[in-house]
Amino acid sequence: MSTGNEALEVWIDQDLCTGDGICAQYAPEVFELDIDGLAYVKSGDDELLQTEGATTPVPLPLLTDVVDSAKECPGDCIHVRRISDRVEVYGPDAE
Ligand code: SF4
Repeated sequence: MSTGNEALEVWIDQDLCTGDGICAQYAPEVFELDIDGLAYVKSGDDELLQTEGATTPVPLPLLTDVVDSAKECPGDCIHVRRISDRVEVYGPDAE
């Protein structure tokens, strides 16, 4: 699906995360494994966001890495959506 220039955000469903760390390898600026063995998104200033369903904006230069993470995620639990209407554009719920 084409996203044009629209701003995107990403969140992780930790209930399905396998803890393999693929996302953190692809995009360490956006994803990080915590000591609980699960991946979380990070804020722009590198803070782990652990509230359920927490989102962080996808920096445009990292879009490919984030999308690849969503595609490769074994848990199918990385969700990338448009900020404007919250429609998922990459991930298990994308059209
Ligand atoms: S790639 Fe998916 S399953 Fe693997 S650590 Fe990241 S969020 Fe969890």
